[in-house]
Amino acid sequence: MGGHVDFEDLNLEFGYSCMPDRLHYFTKEENDFRMEVRNWCKDNVDPVIEKIDRERNKELAVETLKKMPYLDIILPRNAGGQGKGVIYRCIFGEELSAFSYAIASIFGASSCLFAGPIIEFGTPEQKEKYLSGIANGTKIGAIGITEPTGGSDAIGGMKLRAKKEDDHYILNGEKCFITNGSVADYICLYAITNDQVKKHQGMTAFIFETDTPGFEVIKDYKHMGRRGMPNSYLKFNNCKIPAENILHKENEGLEVLLFGLDGERTFTASQYLGLARSAFEVAYKYSHKREQFKRTLYSFEGISFKLSEMFSDIELYRIAMAQIARMLDNGYNCRVQVAGVKFRLADAAVRTAQEAIQILGGIGYSEEYPLERYYRDSKIGQISAGTVEILKYLISREMVRMWGK
Ligand SMILES: Cc1cc2nc3c(=O)[nH]c(=O)nc-3n(C[C@H](O)[C@H](O)[C@H](O)COP(=O)(O)OP(=O)(O)OC[C@H]3O[C@@H](n4cnc5c(N)ncnc54)[C@H](O)[C@@H]3O)c2cc1C
Repeated sequence: MGGHVDFEDLNLEFGYSCMPDRLHYFTKEENDFRMEVRNWCKDNVDPVIEKIDRERNKELAVETLKKMPYLDIILPRNAGGQGKGVIYRCIFGEELSAFSYAIASIFGASSCLFAGPIIEFGTPEQKEKYLSGIANGTKIGAIGITEPTGGSDAIGGMKLRAKKEDDHYILNGEKCFITNGSVADYICLYAITNDQVKKHQGMTAFIFETDTPGFEVIKDYKHMGRRGMPNSYLKFNNCKIPAENILHKENEGLEVLLFGLDGERTFTASQYLGLARSAFEVAYKYSHKREQFKRTLYSFEGISFKLSEMFSDIELYRIAMAQIARMLDNGYNCRVQVAGVKFRLADAAVRTAQEAIQILGGIGYSEEYPLERYYRDSKIGQISAGTVEILKYLISREMVRMWGK
């Protein structure tokens, strides 16, 4: 006791050795599912996390994902899936992200963001053709919204054009920051199909196959965190796409995009929870073992109160998220609540990772502990799937819509 404590000596169980296995605000089936996913991740994800992060090893990350028996959780039963709702997706997102935020993000882009809109809007033929590969791990999906000229103002700045010619469209333009872009088989792609109207009335969602001639991966970005998750700059040079690959209806891509965003934000919120939980556990355990001034760090209120705040963020936001997930499963529109829990949890994850490093001091800043990875990983939550500022803007606009000025 007293010296720097080795990571191995903490006997961590990724966020749960200091919390009950059974959370009473989840059902028995949900808690059983949580434990099953956690045990699978302990055996299959834990051994490869460091390698994926240090080497930015996207091949290993994708290979690990493809082995997962949970890729079909959101697929309806009549399409061969497990037919689980948003609540299960959140449990899964939290558990997987407590181990690897990068792999969970590859899952999110493929099984939620690509497959989700097809489940909702796809024709029977589209469902048949595109969903089974995602569900059995032979195919990877992605979502393509962002462009160099359109980030927060994604639709206003969209320049990717799909020009109609007979029974197909010709695509020209670029997409940037596309998760899974360089490894994807399919992309749910948004393009402008009518220049004569406001952009949100002239945008269409397509299912794009990446073996189409003219598709080019310009580069994978080297991000500070979520290393191993491919995130790519893509170019479309005269790519021919059949009209039957329109998802939903021509010029009605906005409806598809808005549907997908709520699902994405709920899943990403659950990811921040997993990340925060792992950071909390390291700091909690360490603070009970490390001694200074002949006392454990935990015995100082300056340290234990930080942990009280971290624990409260995790516990209370998980309860809020579970409630929102159940409301979504029951068909309620929760756009404001989803935006709120997403930006709150994103901020909480950054704060938790940062405070956890502070609690460990110098060793927390080193690669001896995974806290520096959690800290690097956590930052993206405040940027992707709607920045903190844009989510607050969305809520401020909704407040005026609901209550006037
Ligand atoms: C790792 C990663 C993964 C991603 N994955 C995907 C993906 O799979 N598919 C996809 O389509 N996109 C993806 N994105 C893109 C992501 O959604 C955008 O980065 C995000 O929407 C912000 O856009 P931007 O980066 O262009 O920032 P900008 O829009 O240029 O914003 C810059 C800053 O200005 C602020 N700002 C902008 N407008 C306002 C305003 N009106 N009021 C106040 N502040 C404002 C923003 O909040 C931000 O802080 C990903 C990005 C990253 C980094």
